[in-house]
Amino acid sequence: TSGTLLFAGALNVDFSIRVPHLPEPGETVLGPNYQVMPGGKAANQAVACARAGGQAALVGAVGTDPFAEVALCCLRASGVNLSGVRTLQGSSGAAFIGISDTGENTILVAAGTNAALRPEDLPDLTAVDMLVLPLETPLPTIQAFAEAAWQRGVQVVLNAAPAQTLPPLLLQYVSLLIVNEGELRALMPPVPTEDLWQQLRAVQQQGPKAIVVTLGERGCAALLADGTQLRIPAPVVTAVDTTGAGDTFTGTLVAALSRGLHFADALIWASAAAALACTRPGAQPSIPSADEVEAFLSARVTG
Ligand code: ATP
Repeated sequence: TSGTLLFAGALNVDFSIRVPHLPEPGETVLGPNYQVMPGGKAANQAVACARAGGQAALVGAVGTDPFAEVALCCLRASGVNLSGVRTLQGSSGAAFIGISDTGENTILVAAGTNAALRPEDLPDLTAVDMLVLPLETPLPTIQAFAEAAWQRGVQVVLNAAPAQTLPPLLLQYVSLLIVNEGELRALMPPVPTEDLWQQLRAVQQQGPKAIVVTLGERGCAALLADGTQLRIPAPVVTAVDTTGAGDTFTGTLVAALSRGLHFADALIWASAAAALACTRPGAQPSIPSADEVEAFLSARVTG
């Protein structure tokens, strides 16, 4: 039986507006409408994990503003344990996303109560299988969480997104590192090489036991602790909105690993869930259920 998968990090409210073009500084651009949706990497990943059948719990904070309910609604409906989410005086985290007709985007993020996550907010880790940490909350807290989990023998999964320079010891605590190509580059030591496996080995030498790199529509690759190399293509789909593809991938992958799936099978599940999420708009609302992923995979095998 698998234990709890604990996600720690940001819950956001995403305000997105489509505009003919993105504004220059000082410019005002009119768009017809806007949408308000739940987001934040840790929240998206916890929803994906729960929809994939994992026992997801979330550590984070929302504010006392009316938007807090938007940040929480999908998590609650997906059955994520929210006992570790505190309500703090102030505004919930928010992302203001402008999307142009050509598909480019500009994102402004207000950290709000996400900035208040402190080392002492880490709950008791009894019955926790894995601690999953994206990087939208303060790095000292992430570092303290990772060290505490590592000391208790809890596997640490680091999703090093958004890309940034990490504190020197953080990668030493990591069992599984999940990055996209840009985030991988940000972690590369200063010896550039075009070969993906050499790049992954160079990062592995900094501490993480296994590494997964997502490659968008080209799928993903993994370097495991024993040196095994896995390369999984992405299913071909008509993508309408890739927002949250990476988070769907991460949440589904850890749910599948904690269920005891072999790494390659877990990657196939995560790739299918992420591909399905790309076929629908939004981050959390687009995340498929385990039944949908299963139907998608069996249609591909038989079809
Ligand atoms: P995002 O920031 O948009 O959430 P990301 O940059 O973190 O994503 P990507 O590597 O772009 O991560 O995508 C994550 C995974 O989602 C990929 O490994 C792949 O499995 C799936 N995916 C992304 N784009 C597509 C696509 N166009 N078609 C099929 N699968 C896709």
